[in-house]
Amino acid sequence: MKTAVFPGSFDPITVGHVELVKRAVPLFDQVVVAVGVNSQKSYLFDLEQRMQWLREVFADEPKISVDSFEGLTAHYCRKIGARYLLRGLRNASDFDYEKTISQLNEIVGEGLETIFLISQPAYSHISSTIVREIIKGGGDAGPFLPAGITFHRTM
Ligand code: ADP
Repeated sequence: MKTAVFPGSFDPITVGHVELVKRAVPLFDQVVVAVGVNSQKSYLFDLEQRMQWLREVFADEPKISVDSFEGLTAHYCRKIGARYLLRGLRNASDFDYEKTISQLNEIVGEGLETIFLISQPAYSHISSTIVREIIKGGGDAGPFLPAGITFHRTM
């Protein structure tokens, strides 16, 4: 079984995430969208809310499941038997950051391979950070959110 983990904060999920995962589905038997929980980090939306949105968005995709994990991504991948990580690249700063992380994961994960997909041009300006800023500023984040996502602010 060829399993890929797509790890992230998904605070909140955006149309950029969805586009990336859907393009990855044909490449793997299973894609696990996994919310990494970092107790040092504060989030705009709580874990349960973020996971519920992910479950809703991918409800019709039998090859996609949703989970959460604490600790190192590489350890989580080993635990569930995933040999691949999926990450998206939007620009050169994503590349610089992701390159180092993927090299570390290859060592810590004993051969864990990171597969990168470059975002489509229409999505490369979209990030959860920007969406959070729009929401905090009282703007309409609708164009960046998957259909059906509505807000129940937790912070
Ligand atoms: P993290 O906190 O780990 O960066 P994110 O939820 O922000 O988690 O992102 C998870 C993954 O989704 C990252 O690999 C990121 O590059 C990718 N990603 C986020 N937004 C987009 C987008 N608009 N297009 C393509 N990939 C994206």
